[in-house]
Amino acid sequence: MLANGLETYESWDLKKISIPSRSRLYQLDPIGIGTPLVESLTGYISRLAEAHCVTPKVLISRELVSFIPKTYKTTNLFEMRSLTGAVNGIGTMAFDLVTVLESLTLHSDLRFLTLLTWANIFPQRRLLRSKRAWCPYCYEEWYSSKNKVIYEPLIWFFEAATVCHCHNKFLCQQCPYCKRDIPPLASYSRPGYCPYCSEWLGIANNYPTSDNIQPSKVEMIWQMWVIKTLGELLATSPRLSKPLSREIVAQAFCRYVQQFFEGNTSAFARMLKIPKNKVWMWQKGKVLPELNVILKICFILQVSVLDFLTQETLKENSSQFPAMRQNQMGDSSTKKLEVKFDSDRAQQLLEHWLQSNEQPLPMTAVAKSLGYSKRILYRHFPELCRAISAEYVKYMKESRVKRIEQCCEEVKQAVRQFHTEGIYPSEAAISKLLAKPGCFRDKQVRAALRAARKEICLEP
Ligand SMILES: [Zn+2]
Ligand SMILES: [Zn+2]
Repeated sequence: MLANGLETYESWDLKKISIPSRSRLYQLDPIGIGTPLVESLTGYISRLAEAHCVTPKVLISRELVSFIPKTYKTTNLFEMRSLTGAVNGIGTMAFDLVTVLESLTLHSDLRFLTLLTWANIFPQRRLLRSKRAWCPYCYEEWYSSKNKVIYEPLIWFFEAATVCHCHNKFLCQQCPYCKRDIPPLASYSRPGYCPYCSEWLGIANNYPTSDNIQPSKVEMIWQMWVIKTLGELLATSPRLSKPLSREIVAQAFCRYVQQFFEGNTSAFARMLKIPKNKVWMWQKGKVLPELNVILKICFILQVSVLDFLTQETLKENSSQFPAMRQNQMGDSSTKKLEVKFDSDRAQQLLEHWLQSNEQPLPMTAVAKSLGYSKRILYRHFPELCRAISAEYVKYMKESRVKRIEQCCEEVKQAVRQFHTEGIYPSEAAISKLLAKPGCFRDKQVRAALRAARKEICLEP
């Protein structure tokens, strides 16, 4: 209180405060950047449209297109349905949409929802699929889990990835209700729903479906590896300071040929079972191999695609070199490479082999297909190997019993047939009639012949 009786209040700061710039569109956070399950840009656009209560068609044609200074008709994006996959890819369409969406949402990391980081490395051809693929079990799990958002991972768009990383089942590529293929981005796209019939595409894991074929063991092993290595590429994208340059592909081939084949391109090509001139073109940087080809090569070399491309100097120490597939090493002209034994991976592969319920194989064949020596596998995992072997022995015994039963039945029928035709049912005559002529070597089958003859009073 002042002397004149007036009260003094604190003074106000009337300086203008700076308000950060607002985004024109809702700043929807992209999912999983820096992880193998990063969202796709097409899926992000669908979610962004949903957040604005409009369809993707409205969002693109009334909002995004006016910001794209390009001659191609993005307004007609939906008439080029099969090309909408390019939105997730490495070309101009991906670049334009990333640029406009980054400026409208003020997110600076939307390029990682596409493959733009790898634009110089992988050719467009057979890189991404032209239609949507999804795991119905993932959708259902996300739907029933409170904290999970339904979205479309970018990894589902790779042509090379056909199996779900979690459920070990093939991805769906056709709506089970309207039987239509679904483009990556359609006028009425919504993550988890069919844009044509609006049906929910999720299914509970225990729900039996007739068209749900399980991947074979060999396919599963291949897919597990493909998904892992592609996931690693996607997860690494934000950590690279700049997109990789085209030259590193040629350098990677030169490095491998030089270091492990003493510069002998022919030996390297022979080991990969690829024409020498192709490898030579890759080494010279004249052509880039497709992703599918790089995947196969890296699988044989047992090195991840990321390591293949970015490992600058492979140490001379042989234990640093990725394991080589045993069946690729018969060529004496190739430098003998020591096998690095990845214990965790080998165990995982053996366990997976044992769990899947496909036709069992002998341990030698299993080891060969997994790329390890049988001896090493037995030394590290004797129980798993013995279990795989026992499964095969059991299978062979059961098959033999079934085969003999079938032979006996065929013999019985043949004897009756000959008898009605008035022909003597000799072993030679019946052999000609049977599917497996050598079956009389088995005494049970011979006994069945005698019993059948006895039945029609041809034998005492
Ligand atoms: Zn799944
Ligand atoms: Zn449908």
